[in-house]
Amino acid sequence: MGVTAKLLKLYLVDQKLNGLKSRLRAAERYLAQQDAELEQLTTKHASLDGQLRQIQASMHNDETEIKTLDDRIATNRERMNNAATSKEHAALLTEINTLKADRAIIEERVLEMVNKSDSLTDEVKRVDDELEERKKVRKIAKSDRDAREKEIGEKVSELEDERNEALKDVPGPALAQYNGLSETAMEDDEVMAPVNEEDRRNKEYTCGSCYTLLPVEQVNVLLNRGVIQVCPSCSVILYIEQDLRESIETAMEKKKAKAAKA
Ligand SMILES: [Zn+2]
Repeated sequence: MGVTAKLLKLYLVDQKLNGLKSRLRAAERYLAQQDAELEQLTTKHASLDGQLRQIQASMHNDETEIKTLDDRIATNRERMNNAATSKEHAALLTEINTLKADRAIIEERVLEMVNKSDSLTDEVKRVDDELEERKKVRKIAKSDRDAREKEIGEKVSELEDERNEALKDVPGPALAQYNGLSETAMEDDEVMAPVNEEDRRNKEYTCGSCYTLLPVEQVNVLLNRGVIQVCPSCSVILYIEQDLRESIETAMEKKKAKAAKA
């Protein structure tokens, strides 16, 4: 077996592995997205909750203050009713009015806080509902990911054994070249591609990945199972599919036989 054929064996296993793993990767990406959204909602929830608690504490303080003012007003009113002089009566009345004015300011503030607290409560509830929904979606995403992992697990380990077997045959430099291409390749990029026969008579062969016309010398090297050939345009490692090889070899033999007869 030529070095290209050995690499091809490895490549075919790698393609199957990538196909399996890409389905898992998609599920993993989706799960990570759900986790991120959950985290964002949880942070939002905590922040709203904090604001709500702060407002409720302020409201509680103000209500205590109103109660204190009410007590003072009541006490002053009692003293006013029992006032000995009109001057004392007037002074107490002034103080009551001041206390009432203070109370009104605080009451208005409480009213504003009640509104704010109501709208915060609504918002917290909304985020709560959203969190519940998101948790359900996340749960499905998680079980989907786990199912896929389980589903491909056995197949992946089988293929990894197959890959290790294929690796044993590949010479070091060829493997290094293959690994280099695999590392820089994007998810859908090809690392190896078949040679396409466009026109045998005119010796026109193209790269199966980028359709660039290949020098016929490259095709000859591949037919003779020589060193690795790389497409001059897109750099994939080229190979000749078995059917094409057989067809070319048969044609060449026929030609030879004809020439021998003549
Ligand atoms: Zn190419």
